[in-house]
Amino acid sequence: MEEKKYDYLIVGAGLFGSVFAHEMTKRNKRCLVIDKRDHLGGNVYCENKEGINIHKYGAHIFHTNDKKIWDYVNQFATFNNYINSPLSLSKGKLYNLPFNMNTFYQLWGTKTPGEAKKIIDKQILEYGVKSPKNLEEQALSLVGKDIYETLIKEYTEKQWGKKAKDLPAFIIKRLPVRFTYNNNYFNDIYQGIPVGGYNTIIEGLLNGVETKTGVDFFGDREQLESLAHKVVYTGKIDEFFDYQHGQLEYRSLRFEHELHKIENYQGNAVVNYNDKEYDFTRIIEHKHFEFGKQDQTIITREYPEAWDRSKEAYYPINNEINQELFKKYKQESLRVDNVIFGGRLAEYRYYDMHQIIASSLTKVEEILK
Ligand code: UDP
Repeated sequence: MEEKKYDYLIVGAGLFGSVFAHEMTKRNKRCLVIDKRDHLGGNVYCENKEGINIHKYGAHIFHTNDKKIWDYVNQFATFNNYINSPLSLSKGKLYNLPFNMNTFYQLWGTKTPGEAKKIIDKQILEYGVKSPKNLEEQALSLVGKDIYETLIKEYTEKQWGKKAKDLPAFIIKRLPVRFTYNNNYFNDIYQGIPVGGYNTIIEGLLNGVETKTGVDFFGDREQLESLAHKVVYTGKIDEFFDYQHGQLEYRSLRFEHELHKIENYQGNAVVNYNDKEYDFTRIIEHKHFEFGKQDQTIITREYPEAWDRSKEAYYPINNEINQELFKKYKQESLRVDNVIFGGRLAEYRYYDMHQIIASSLTKVEEILK
């Protein structure tokens, strides 16, 4: 085989690419990681301002049930004991999330699980759909009309730019429903924010790996591909194939960061804004992820936006039409044997951080087998 400078050219320095590069470098493979942005870390990248780690591309809260993945990330950072407990503002009132006994009390004044269950079960029965086929049906048959209308419908339609009827049911199953007074947004055993921010993890993963930022793969594709035996591609799969079967849909986001010369803006790291009158879906107050004591604070409003090719793609929109289209690209990808596809955009999957790490580790294992 012709000798090349690298074994792997890794396109995208997010979690999938960084874990892959780390594992392969450990096994003496020569890796080059490139990213079109001017920093490493993809969407977990944090920017430090006024001593506050700002989650530049939206709130990232690490959580997993998998001890192996928890131990893996703990090699690179110590995690604090932050537990995500967002609030949601709906029609002038604040509610606890996820849907739990506190939420039910705020909605109906119910004090016991029995009382709350009775109301929810009645609403589910009245709705009567047994096998939900979309997000709206799923939500109504899981939590009933009141919760759907107060805390789900408007948020969801704003977040995705689609009617809840036109969205896949699985999205809403991400949120727990519990009959205890427990505001923990996740059911996982392990949870926290890395002390020093997510950059600590990325720096640990990419320590000793050659990296180049500000490099657009598509700007110089042939030359870049010629550098390595294999390419690990973590960008949008349809772009890789020049959109030949048509464009997949994504949802984009816009972030507005704001410094306030007060100690505490909203008293919580995450406050969701359910109502459609607000164009943003949530306000993040970053210092609360790390129990910050700074005398100023930085907040971020998160605005969902329609995606086009000039914008960053944040979420795949996994409805049926897009899943069908994705299958075609997936078929294409199986025909290219010197490229490994991985991560949220290349696999077109609504992955969380722990799932991306697991999928990258699995990919490495498969290759080494
Ligand atoms: N969701 C909702 N109301 C909320 C928060 C979430 O209806 O206050 C729904 C919405 O459809 C959203 C989905 O639950 O897209 C998943 O929310 P999650 O917080 O897991 O999404 P992410 O943080 O990944 O955007």
